[in-house]
Amino acid sequence: MLPSDIITRIGAIVGPGQVLSAPEDRWTYAFDATDLEHLPDLVVFPGSAAEVAAIVRLANEHRFPVVPRGAGSGRAGGAVPVEGGVVLVLTRLNRILEINPRDFVAVVEPGVITGELKRAVAAQGLYYPPDPGSSEFCTIGGNVATGAGGAVAVQYGVTRDYVLGLEVVLPTGEIIHTGTRTMKSVVGYDLTHLLVGSEGTLGVITKIILRLVPPPAARQTLAAGFRSLAAATQAVGELLRSGVAPASLEFLDAATLSCVAELLPFPVPVEVSAFLFVALEGHPQDVAQRAAASREILTAAGAAPLVLPAGEAEAEEVWRARKAVSPATRKLRPHKIAEDVAVPLGAIPDLVAAVQEISRARGLPILCFGHAGDGNIHVNIMFDARVEAERCAARQAVEDLLAAVRRLAGTLSGEHGIGLLKAPFLRLELSEAVIALQRRLKQAFDPLNIMNPGKIFPGEG
Ligand SMILES: Cc1cc2nc3c(=O)[nH]c(=O)nc-3n(C[C@H](O)[C@H](O)[C@H](O)COP(=O)(O)OP(=O)(O)OC[C@H]3O[C@@H](n4cnc5c(N)ncnc54)[C@H](O)[C@@H]3O)c2cc1C
Repeated sequence: MLPSDIITRIGAIVGPGQVLSAPEDRWTYAFDATDLEHLPDLVVFPGSAAEVAAIVRLANEHRFPVVPRGAGSGRAGGAVPVEGGVVLVLTRLNRILEINPRDFVAVVEPGVITGELKRAVAAQGLYYPPDPGSSEFCTIGGNVATGAGGAVAVQYGVTRDYVLGLEVVLPTGEIIHTGTRTMKSVVGYDLTHLLVGSEGTLGVITKIILRLVPPPAARQTLAAGFRSLAAATQAVGELLRSGVAPASLEFLDAATLSCVAELLPFPVPVEVSAFLFVALEGHPQDVAQRAAASREILTAAGAAPLVLPAGEAEAEEVWRARKAVSPATRKLRPHKIAEDVAVPLGAIPDLVAAVQEISRARGLPILCFGHAGDGNIHVNIMFDARVEAERCAARQAVEDLLAAVRRLAGTLSGEHGIGLLKAPFLRLELSEAVIALQRRLKQAFDPLNIMNPGKIFPGEG
């Protein structure tokens, strides 16, 4: 527990009503979208970078952990205060400060909900492409801190590709500004992109300069069913090689489809083993040509049915169903471990085959869905935590999966980060020398290890 005089000092920094200390209130901030949880000592809602800095300085003085938190939708336990301390909830910092169509930039505070930012940018005739499945409830600060991806990364890239500059409260309490509002800059080390994806371990992001792009004039969706997983993953390769350049190329296996079938605007035949959802964006004529080419490729690969939604409203239903996949999977089992591995594009069929084998060997439903266009497949290991055998089997399935991914030269996380969940496995991917260098970086930023301790590095927390 934090001593009461420190709680009083924090209350004085943020003002009345911005601190939660009752256990029942603190529980609400003990977990994220994993099944991990740990009770914080205090929950604080700062209203400015200066307030964040004052709390962080106090944390250095009295050595208590500070855990930045956006919406708590993270899938790696990054916002879980595993060593207690203060959870800094950044949702009060939720102003869109500027959307500038001349410079193609937006300047925002971290607590802005990503979907609201996308709509505000669209209202100014511009486009902020990154579109995580959680866009209606996650924060842009959380997106930057995790390096979030999403369904349109194939064409447009991920959050990292849109961050031009940051305001950050360092773990020592200084407020720094990195990057610029120019489209390019190579002045000194690229601290901006070191901070992107640092999962709240190197500082608290309090302002973000984002790059914007012109909106696409046209969008076409295609949905293609396949009788075998192999045919679907084969079609992914054909589409990518053909140059039709999809904005989204999403994959859903049969078990995943069964969870969202009733949300789709077309029937899913029982014999279908997998679906691909494809979106093409750009100039209308160009999109029409690329859609025709995609239809040919998908038909040749054995797609049946091949659906072109009638109009934007029906297309939206397809993408809404895709976004509903993650919560809908709980129909199969009450608990899940959601891995977001990525493999080289050529290895997607091998990954899907390996997952099927693991599912058989461990006796658990394991779903594969997600961003096939960039090799980032979400593997959801479904289990019932009340059944000990299933709990053990799920843990073993994680080990099997990550070992298989590394054999395929893949990565442990394509977009969710390492956080708490994957820290024990970091050595599967990073050498001791790289981990030691990263620890030295962490120490240079945070000599007293107060900022989100217990995350990323193995053997801590
Ligand atoms: C249904 C569902 C679908 C999802 N789909 C996707 C997807 O398509 N792509 C994807 O990438 N992710 C996805 N996610 C995961 C999650 O939404 C993202 O990781 C998101 O970026 C987290 O944002 P948040 O505001 O909830 O952050 P939180 O969960 O609150 O925090 C995540 C991490 O960021 C740190 N952090 C948060 N804010 C700050 C800040 N201002 N300064 C410093 N550190 C900070 C935290 O300490 C923590 O380590 C999904 C999650 C769910 C539940």
